[in-house]
Amino acid sequence: MKIRFWGVRGSIPTPGPDTVYYGGDTTCIEVRAGKELIIVDAGSGIRRLGLHLLEESRGAPINAHLLITHTHWDHIQGFPFFTPAYIPGNSFRIYGSNNSNKKLKEILAGQMEHEYFPVSLDQMGAKLQYIQISEEQFQIGDVQIETMFMNHPGIALGYRIEHQGSVLVFTADLEPYKHLLSSVEQAYRVNGKKISLEVLGEEKFIALLENKLVTFLEGADLLIFDAAYTYEVYKAGKQKWGHSYPEYAVEVAAKGRVKCLALTHHDPLETDKDVDAKIEHTRKLIQNVGTEIECFGAQVGLEMSI
Ligand SMILES: [Zn+2]
Ligand SMILES: [Zn+2]
Repeated sequence: MKIRFWGVRGSIPTPGPDTVYYGGDTTCIEVRAGKELIIVDAGSGIRRLGLHLLEESRGAPINAHLLITHTHWDHIQGFPFFTPAYIPGNSFRIYGSNNSNKKLKEILAGQMEHEYFPVSLDQMGAKLQYIQISEEQFQIGDVQIETMFMNHPGIALGYRIEHQGSVLVFTADLEPYKHLLSSVEQAYRVNGKKISLEVLGEEKFIALLENKLVTFLEGADLLIFDAAYTYEVYKAGKQKWGHSYPEYAVEVAAKGRVKCLALTHHDPLETDKDVDAKIEHTRKLIQNVGTEIECFGAQVGLEMSI
């Protein structure tokens, strides 16, 4: 499986001299597994991915699967600028959570209404199919996909992608379950059964979800994890914003015995130096827990094989 990062920033694109190294585009990851082209999220990074695909395909049809973790703006804002979606003959299957009372197509069309954008979704000439999904397992060709709801305002889907024994997990935006975001409580299931905070009590409820997360990411060759903030920044006013920090990333990565950990969703306030310091700190945390997880900061343009 080959992975390339096209967007690694959280919240808003952050170009400028202080973000040149890690990049300023918001979330977009290209995954090549066998014959399949899978794109995770359509943050602003998908614009350049689109240009790359056009160049690479030399006019041949482009067929891809777009897995949307959630429709917060930083995960879909690049879609109106994804040129291949305007070209007849191309085809995209777009997957996203069924947890909102609006359909996925409506949400994507919403950001292209004329109050916000000159071209409407219906003017995109490629074949666009929308697949509403929940927590489930499905196949894209010979690639296995599993999803899990994350602790995030309005909810987000994490994706586990497996192909020929290689495992990539992208957890999407998430906050530790101990800071439970009540809006998503009704969505949580363990072993297919809905679980109730009221019945179980907070401690047991949270422990079940933490265990479920560890199982979800277990054995990943690469875990891409939201570490938007340092723990200090998180504690100083970002609780219940739906994001994590290195201490939590290392805790779950170690429990799940993952091989490699990429921190992503860098906060717009984080300069390249800040991200460097965050990674350095995370490597120390990994040493302290006595594991050998490789750790790096997700960086626009970075390619790797697992
Ligand atoms: Zn985000
Ligand atoms: Zn979000």
